Amino acid sequence: FKRDVNSCSFLPAITLDEHQTHVLANIEFQEEVGLAMDYGADGIGLYRTEFLYLRQKRLPSEEELFEDYKTVALMMRPRSVTIRTLDIGGDKFASHLEYAPGINPALGLRAIRFCLKEQQIFRTQLRAILRASVFGKVRLMFPLISGIQEVIAARRILSEIQQELRLEGLAFNPELPVGVMIEVPSAVMLADLLAKEADFFSIGTNDLIQYALAIDRVNKHVAEMYQPLHPAVLRMIKQVTDAAHTEGIPVAVCGEMAGDPLYTPVLLGMGVDELSMNALAIPVVKRIIRHSTMEEFQEFARQALHHQTFEDVNAYVTGVMARRF
Ligand code: PEP
Ligand code: MG
Repeated sequence: FKRDVNSCSFLPAITLDEHQTHVLANIEFQEEVGLAMDYGADGIGLYRTEFLYLRQKRLPSEEELFEDYKTVALMMRPRSVTIRTLDIGGDKFASHLEYAPGINPALGLRAIRFCLKEQQIFRTQLRAILRASVFGKVRLMFPLISGIQEVIAARRILSEIQQELRLEGLAFNPELPVGVMIEVPSAVMLADLLAKEADFFSIGTNDLIQYALAIDRVNKHVAEMYQPLHPAVLRMIKQVTDAAHTEGIPVAVCGEMAGDPLYTPVLLGMGVDELSMNALAIPVVKRIIRHSTMEEFQEFARQALHHQTFEDVNAYVTGVMARRF
């Protein structure tokens, strides 16, 4: 199985019973696009856009952002590029941007909350993303959404900017798909409502696990309790995929969980449509997909969801994976 993993890189992520999935790459800089292509990414499922804001002690201009997003869109064409709006705060700080991190930055002014407060920064980025959207298959998503009002507010600003660009005669894709990241437990509980406001979901398991289990994602003293296979986490992912599919929208997972082959069958078996990960993990994940059936994944997920403790789920998943792959 291991020997010819790399031969799978450029083959489609399709199961033996012909169920199409997509395996994409996460990137943080434009320079990583080459690696994503080399490892057979079906697209960029998460472009974290903080780098241009963190690398210098001033805000990037609209032109700088536009050029960067345009380059990535062109390089990946015809594959999709999902650009996540600024997720500053939490574990990603910029000393020149004004905010008080407080004693609990993960629960503070970060991501969409920061953008809705610092609207000028948000508007500049949205203008750049919209303008880049005509150069490839660009998608947009908002991080750390905790309720409907944030999506409505963000979408309202987006349509104001579309109007602005129209008046200025600048091109953009009016059909730009808008996604919501599901990484806060309240968003899981509201997934049925959020699905009506979004074109797709992307589950950020790094944060979702942190907030669901109250385990700091960067605190090594509690790292053992950071459990992707915790029954509560699996139920949340299942609830989100069910809600999305009821509304007919697709679901991606773009946290680290998506790039660990141990979790591939359980995620796809619960109905996840796309996995976005560190590019290096793409070949092995594709290999698992191409050597299994969706029916097998679904049964695997059903069994995993039956177990009541992390220990039991973990024993089940690792046991099957060791025997099967
Ligand atoms: C996540 O939370 O899973 C995610 C993909 O976003 P980040 O790791 O950048 O917070
Ligand atoms: Mg996150």
